[in-house]
Amino acid sequence: EQNNFSEIIAHCKEYGYIFPSSEIYDGLSAVYDYGQNGAQLKKNIRDYWWKSMTQLHENIVGIDAAIFMHPLTWKASGHVDNFSDPMIDNKDSKKRYRVDHLIESHAEKLAFEGKKEEEFALLKSMDELLSKDDFGGLKNLIEQNKIKCEVSGTANWTDIRQFNLMFSTEFGSSVSGNEEDNKVYLRPETAQGIFVNFLNVQKTGRMKIPFGIAQTGKAFRNEIVARQFIFRMREFEQMEMQFFVKPGTEMEWYNYWKTERLKWHESLGIPAEKLRYHDHVKLAHYANAAVDIEFEFPFGFKELEGIHSRTDFDLKQHQELSKKKLQYFDNDLKEDGKPIGNYIPYVVETSVGLDRLFLTVISVAYANEKWTKEDGTEDSRVVLRIPAKIAPYKLAILPLVKKDGLPEIAKQLMNECKQSFHTFYEEKDSIGKRYRRMDAIGTPFCVTIDHQTKEDNTVTIRYRDTMMQERISLAEVKSILMEKIN
Ligand code: ATP
Repeated sequence: EQNNFSEIIAHCKEYGYIFPSSEIYDGLSAVYDYGQNGAQLKKNIRDYWWKSMTQLHENIVGIDAAIFMHPLTWKASGHVDNFSDPMIDNKDSKKRYRVDHLIESHAEKLAFEGKKEEEFALLKSMDELLSKDDFGGLKNLIEQNKIKCEVSGTANWTDIRQFNLMFSTEFGSSVSGNEEDNKVYLRPETAQGIFVNFLNVQKTGRMKIPFGIAQTGKAFRNEIVARQFIFRMREFEQMEMQFFVKPGTEMEWYNYWKTERLKWHESLGIPAEKLRYHDHVKLAHYANAAVDIEFEFPFGFKELEGIHSRTDFDLKQHQELSKKKLQYFDNDLKEDGKPIGNYIPYVVETSVGLDRLFLTVISVAYANEKWTKEDGTEDSRVVLRIPAKIAPYKLAILPLVKKDGLPEIAKQLMNECKQSFHTFYEEKDSIGKRYRRMDAIGTPFCVTIDHQTKEDNTVTIRYRDTMMQERISLAEVKSILMEKIN
């Protein structure tokens, strides 16, 4: 599996999906750039999410809040005081670890050695100690289990400390000379931009509870150890939706979104057996219920999306620190003639990492195929079976040869199609090589213009997934494609 993962990473680079950031300077640790195909795939996934949230739900609207927010936002949300991970350093190797990651990888080793009960006991103790922030207990656990540093092989650990994950910077130049006055944070989640705009949207959009606000955008976390390609990065993108509900109905909506979101991932072609729920044992400071949707990445089942019942924690906190009322008022709600529609709503949140979803889509799509042909010879290809609705290019138009008027017909078809969907044009190399290249990029359909086209106005359409070919009418290419990609 690890092998397959390094193949995927190499493939992403070779075919313009993902490059290491500032590669000419040897890259920047755990920062990546999306290339020409990656940017398009990422945009298509984002658009698919945005459409399914906003266009397909009449009670969900989308906003685009700034990355910078008033510093009190992060005081109110609890991030200044609580958004930290316990970390520990190995004194010999000077390597730094997130305590839960260190213990989890030891648990994985135990599982690998068939010590299932020990693994379970270790994880259970870890969860209990983490939920109590018992750092002494966690250090004991590490020592009792003789957990060693993978680099130095020693078990010489420092004490455990909290490490806040927020990046900060300064606004303008300090007038007071006190740097703290100008300190601003890069948002570690997009959710707070939604909370502070809750009343703006509710009033101007005349939204009635239950309703949702969706947003996509960059978030930043100074992860102690960023790793596993684009799975854990310091700069990443989130797609979040806060659903505002009447207090007391939150569990109903929590269960609704839990089911909906799993179905949504399946609609992207992710096999059901590679998805699972993981209920949180340790709840974040704001939540009364939380579940992760996990995907089986090439390195195991890991969180892809979080669904949290956040109660009225955030709105209440913002109301307190901003001293502005953040209440919903529903005139129509009356009991015994008295209005009862005045309350701070509860919130159910769905939060998925766009980069993690991108890695999910690529992991599912990637296949290195080998087979024996009819004549007994071996053949192979690398293909990205990306669902047509999110593939970077939908169609490749390929004139068989660069002469005899074939490129002209191809370009005319290109002009006809490109207004409606992303089309790729290529006239270099043999047709077989061009098909393989389109397989590797994940283009679901190729249309080849050959000499017969000039005689009977038909073309060959070739399907990426089955490699089957058939002749269709040139005039119908666009409408057939439109049907297949929607
Ligand atoms: P983890 O436990 O993996 O650190 P988390 O529980 O802190 O994640 P949330 O705060 O729930 O994550 O964030 C919501 C989503 O944002 C996650 O499900 C994940 O898809 C994405 N995400 C969080 N941190 C990162 C990161 N460092 N890099 C890429 N995506 C991230």
